Amino acid sequence: MPRVSVFVDFLLALELLEEGEILEPRVAKEEELLLFHTKDYIQALKEVSAGHFRAEFRERFNIGSFENPVCPASYWGSLYAAGASIQVAELFLSSKVGFNPAGGMHHAYPANANGFCFINDPGIVISYLLNKGFKRILYIDLDAHHCDGVQHFFYRDNRVFVLSFHQSPSYAFPFVCGYLDELGDGAGFGYNLNVELPKNVADDEYLFLVKEILPAVVEHFKPEIYILALGTDALEEDYLSKLSLSNFALLETFRFVNQLLGSGIYLGGGGYNPISTLRAWAVLWCEMTKKEIPRALNDKALAILQSLEFTDFDERGFDHLFSGLLDKPRNGGIRPQVRDILSKTLRAFFNASY
Ligand SMILES: [Zn+2]
Repeated sequence: MPRVSVFVDFLLALELLEEGEILEPRVAKEEELLLFHTKDYIQALKEVSAGHFRAEFRERFNIGSFENPVCPASYWGSLYAAGASIQVAELFLSSKVGFNPAGGMHHAYPANANGFCFINDPGIVISYLLNKGFKRILYIDLDAHHCDGVQHFFYRDNRVFVLSFHQSPSYAFPFVCGYLDELGDGAGFGYNLNVELPKNVADDEYLFLVKEILPAVVEHFKPEIYILALGTDALEEDYLSKLSLSNFALLETFRFVNQLLGSGIYLGGGGYNPISTLRAWAVLWCEMTKKEIPRALNDKALAILQSLEFTDFDERGFDHLFSGLLDKPRNGGIRPQVRDILSKTLRAFFNASY
């Protein structure tokens, strides 16, 4: 499903996108890909996209596996997604704000595909900023899954702080990493923090954790610049995650990050219910561009959502998705286990930092 083009159509239908606000994406250049990936891996991706698949690629690079099927469209799509993320960084450096909904492919490793991701655009953007001379870059990831590829690459680097809020890998992808005790290594020790969320975290618990943990990290790390990955799969309606957020929680988190740090470099991420993804990104887009969030959906916008027919995937009633853009907050109180996660997380962070 082409999420990005439908998202653009959705914004146009809601009259939230003005002329001049769409930037034509460009493909990432080879030297940009090599900021994160190995030459062999990029070469293999090129060959596969040209129709020359070799069995060894599956073993060496995890390309062409069930999880990472590759075709020319997926290769070129990844190149455009990575190029667009660099364009958003360039925009930011020229004092403008940009959002690349196709970005946030945080699972890819330097020499292998992983979790539907081939090219790690957040990693490329961070390396690009390091090359520009930034020395304190904060990467904040709100996708429901741990940003394993990004963490891995910057694990020993004290110029990059990786902060991720995600489902605990004890029950969710990537299973093998994303735990609290992964705090960085060598010079990078104390510059990596994983907030492991239990199942069914709703808005109040999520905001409770974000509003306690992020200021501590910012206070200590004092970032010069930040990247915010805005996957939407932590929303209740997403069938790939077990979290229960409304898009109000994502909006509040976005506002909180901006209050604390000013504007940043905004990338997309996962989102496997296209209807809730489009609505959440539209709400965030309004906030990014200081537009008022429409109260109701007009016929054109509604027709786009209804054409997606996503409810086939799930038996739960999702009628509320069609009644407006912004969800009502979903609150259920803060469970003792979440308070416990907060104190454990802060303790681990402060022990590693001082
Ligand atoms: Zn995800």
